[in-house]
Amino acid sequence: MEMTFSIIKPDGVRRNLVGKIFNMIESAGLRIVATKMIHMSRREAEQFYAVHKDRPFFGELCDFMCSGPVVVSALQAPDAVTKYRDLMGATDPKKAAQGTIRAAFAESIGENTVHGSDSKDNAAIELGFFFAGTELVNRAR
Ligand code: ATP
Ligand code: MG
Repeated sequence: MEMTFSIIKPDGVRRNLVGKIFNMIESAGLRIVATKMIHMSRREAEQFYAVHKDRPFFGELCDFMCSGPVVVSALQAPDAVTKYRDLMGATDPKKAAQGTIRAAFAESIGENTVHGSDSKDNAAIELGFFFAGTELVNRAR
């Protein structure tokens, strides 16, 4: 069993899409192990997306991620990282496959509704950034 880290970004929360996205997550066989709504500070957004600090869209990305509340979750399944990336669809919603979260809901490459870890190592780092081990209360055994 593997765990990955998910964010429903401010555009998803603002448009009341949390329930629909959780439904897609659970229907795909991913288990919600922990979840909470938070409002990131600008500093937290900068730390979380530090890998992108030299990209031209970094400032815009951090402004957006702290523009409103988000829902952070720990998700578990066999191959959870790949499974959730597949469910999210391509970064640019115009290129996202039918049936993916971004094809259904994302409005632009910047405001693309969800984040998911891109590797097992990054999943562990990102989960540790937002959750204490004691919060991962719904782990399957
Ligand atoms: P995420 O890390 O959010 O799951 P991703 O792995 O599909 O998305 P990354 O390349 O890691 O894509 O980019 C991180 C985020 O930065 C994207 O989800 C998007 O919100 C934003 N982003 C990426 N490319 C652009 C761009 N060209 N213009 C504006 N924003 C962008
Ligand atoms: Mg990424």
